[in-house]
Amino acid sequence: MKNIGVGVIGTGFMGKAHSIAYSGSASVFGTGLRPKLEIVCDLSPERASQRATDLGFSRYTANWQEVVYDPNVKLVSVCTPNDTHAEIAIAALNEGKHVWCEKPMSSSLSDSKKMLDAFKDGTAKTIIGYNYTKNPAVIHARELIKNDTIGRVAAFFCRYDVDNEADGKKTWSWRMSRKASGTGANGDILSHVISVAHYLVDSEICRVAGDINIVHTERYDEKEKKIKKVDNDDIISALIHFKNGVKGHIGASRVSWGKKCGFTWEIHGTKGTICFDQERLNELKVFTRQEQSSTDGFRTILTGPEHPFYASFLPNGGHSLGFMDVKMCELQTLLFAIEHDTSTWPDFTAGYYIEKVMEAIDFSATEGSWKSIS
Ligand code: NAD
Repeated sequence: MKNIGVGVIGTGFMGKAHSIAYSGSASVFGTGLRPKLEIVCDLSPERASQRATDLGFSRYTANWQEVVYDPNVKLVSVCTPNDTHAEIAIAALNEGKHVWCEKPMSSSLSDSKKMLDAFKDGTAKTIIGYNYTKNPAVIHARELIKNDTIGRVAAFFCRYDVDNEADGKKTWSWRMSRKASGTGANGDILSHVISVAHYLVDSEICRVAGDINIVHTERYDEKEKKIKKVDNDDIISALIHFKNGVKGHIGASRVSWGKKCGFTWEIHGTKGTICFDQERLNELKVFTRQEQSSTDGFRTILTGPEHPFYASFLPNGGHSLGFMDVKMCELQTLLFAIEHDTSTWPDFTAGYYIEKVMEAIDFSATEGSWKSIS
C-alpha cells in the first residue's frame, strides 16, 4: 500500500466533499493508493485553521501556492470559485502534481484552453468533478446501452433544475457574475448535463441551438451594500446534435421552485428506454419491449453489489449510496489512473470539449442561430 499526499484548496461544499472522499477512500476501497491529508487552504488563516480541524488536516494555509508548492503534496484538489481554477490548476500541473478540479473547468474558454495546454505538456493525471457520471446506476445504464438492451440510441433528453436561486430576494453571489463564474446555470449545472450526455451517448455534441433567460436581473450584494446586476443565465436550454447522429434537447434552471436536485435524463433507443432521476439516484427505470404487450412496462433496477463500485460500500442491494459516496467513486477513478498510469474520464481534454459545448450554447443563445462545435 502506497500513500499519496493530498492538498485541498477551498473548503466549502466541494472542499468538504473532496476531503471526505480522501478520508474514506482507504476504508471503502481498501486497496491501491492511500490518500494522506497533508494541507488545506482557505481564504483566511482563521477559516483554514477551523476547516483543518474539522476535515482532519494536520496543516493549513491561507495561501494556495503553499499547497501547490508543498513537496509532500502530489495531488491537488481545486475546490474554489470558477475564476480561480485556471491559475491554481496550471501552477499545480507545472509542478507535476495531479489535479482533481471542480467543474466547470474555469470561467472562460481561453482559461480552460490554457489548462488543457498545461495538462498536455505534462504527465500528471487530471479529472474534472463531473460526479454524476460516476454513479453506479449511471455506469450501469451505459453498460446496458453498450450491450444493446435498448437497441440503437435514438435520442437523449435531459434537464437539471434546482431552486438554489429561485428566491428573487436572495442576495447576490459570485455565481451571478460572468466575471467570477462565467455563465450561470450553464456552467453551474448544464455542464453536468453535457458530461452525462457525452458519457451515455458515447459521442460528443457537435451542433446546438441555445436559448437563455435571466429571471432575476438584479440582486442585493450584502458585502458591498448595493444592488448589483445579474449578468449570467438563470435558465438555459438547447437543441443538440451529437457527432454520431443522435439528437435531443437539454436544459437547466437555477430558479425552479421545488426542484432540489432535479437532474433527470431519458435515453430513447429503437428497442427500449432508460430513465433516471438524481433525486432517486439508486434507481434506473428501464423499458424493453416484450413479446406480449400485456407484459410491457417500465421496471425498476435498484443498485446493488453487482454494479460497479457499489460492493466496496455495501454488501446488499437497495441500501443506497449518496452524493458523497459517488464523489468517492470519482476519486477512486483518479487514484486508479495515477497508480496504474491509465487515462481518466473526464480529464482536461474531455473537460475542455464540454466547455466548448457550453460556450457554443451561450453564443447561439445570444446570436439566435445554430452553432457548430469543432
Ligand atoms: P463554496 O462557496 O461553498 O466554497 C468555496 C470555498 O473556496 C470557500 O470556502 C472560499 O472561502 C474558498 N476560496 C475562495 N477563493 C479562494 C482562494 N483564492 N484560495 C483559497 N480558498 C478560496 O463553493 P462550492 O459550492 O464548494 O464550489 C466550489 C467549486 O465547486 C465551484 O467551481 C463549483 O462550480 C463546484 N461545484 C461542484 C459541484 C459538483 O456537483 N461537482 C457542486 C457544487 C459546486
